[in-house]
Amino acid sequence: MKSHLSRRGFLAGASAAGVALRASAADTGKPALLGGSKVRPQPFPAWPVSGETEERALLDVLHSGKWFRGNGRNVKKFEQEYARVTGAKDCLATCNGTAALSISLNVVGVEPGDEVIIPPYTFIATLNVVLRQYALPVFVDTDPDTFQMDARRVEAAVTGRTRAIMPVHLGGNVCDLDALLDIARKHKVPLIEDACQAHLAEWKGRKAGTWGDTGCFSFQASKNLNCGEGGAILFNDPEIRERAYTFHNNGSGLKPTGANFTYAGSGTNLRLTEFQAAILLAQMERIEQQARRRSENAKYLTSMLREIEEIGRASCRERV
Ligand SMILES: *Cc1c(COP(=O)(O)O)cnc(C)c1O
Repeated sequence: MKSHLSRRGFLAGASAAGVALRASAADTGKPALLGGSKVRPQPFPAWPVSGETEERALLDVLHSGKWFRGNGRNVKKFEQEYARVTGAKDCLATCNGTAALSISLNVVGVEPGDEVIIPPYTFIATLNVVLRQYALPVFVDTDPDTFQMDARRVEAAVTGRTRAIMPVHLGGNVCDLDALLDIARKHKVPLIEDACQAHLAEWKGRKAGTWGDTGCFSFQASKNLNCGEGGAILFNDPEIRERAYTFHNNGSGLKPTGANFTYAGSGTNLRLTEFQAAILLAQMERIEQQARRRSENAKYLTSMLREIEEIGRASCRERV
């Protein structure tokens, strides 16, 4: 390691506490795993981050007595705000990311026996939603350079039964969206982006999740935007958004039909609550700054890893 001191400085700097480092592996000659002292004795920063904004937001919803999207205003406000930050035309909040994917498959018309192209390297929800639709997952393997689905192999997987292409933007990185869109358009197959790990990631200056027919996000506890459980879909076509709204609202659409309990289509209940949306709105105040810091840290870590010949790195096309 050429820049040993800066590597240690980086690890120390990653904590708000910034406690001075004690003995390192170099002092004992042993890695911490084998009994040497730790390079970083203090814990890493806690996640999630929250404060008075979240507290106030939750209490406001509690005291308002308006806990569901039908009579509250937080879910709608969050949808507007998430669309604004991503540059999408429209957004629909959902109860989780898996629901966002499942709604998408339903609104683009994936039926039993249809084929959906997905990568094998992803979180299992990408596969589960296809199987729960009684559709057939068709795997397209990973590009060893980026660890994303290899767009160069997608066209060969398209058949007469392909009803959707569902790439996953893994770990904040982005698939080759130009190539994927070309194939989707050429074969008239909908493109559903699983952007559950790609909040604010960009392809050519435009946000991931705004390129396909739908772009799906998760706000589950481990994600970069978090309200415990939650999700969203981005759209550019208001007609698809309306179908998605109807599906996630037990078949009841946005347009008034003149009577309660009239139904525009099939569906189920996959709505987000006002409490979750209130937390998301508070968390959104930090998201851009957090993403910038994460990108800077990742760049720094990558530059350090570059010095270790034995470690290969996923090449990252673009970041925030
Ligand atoms: C987290 C995740 C999901 C599912 O999101 P949930 O909110 O946990 O349902 C789907 N796809 C990918 C790639 C994910 O990382």
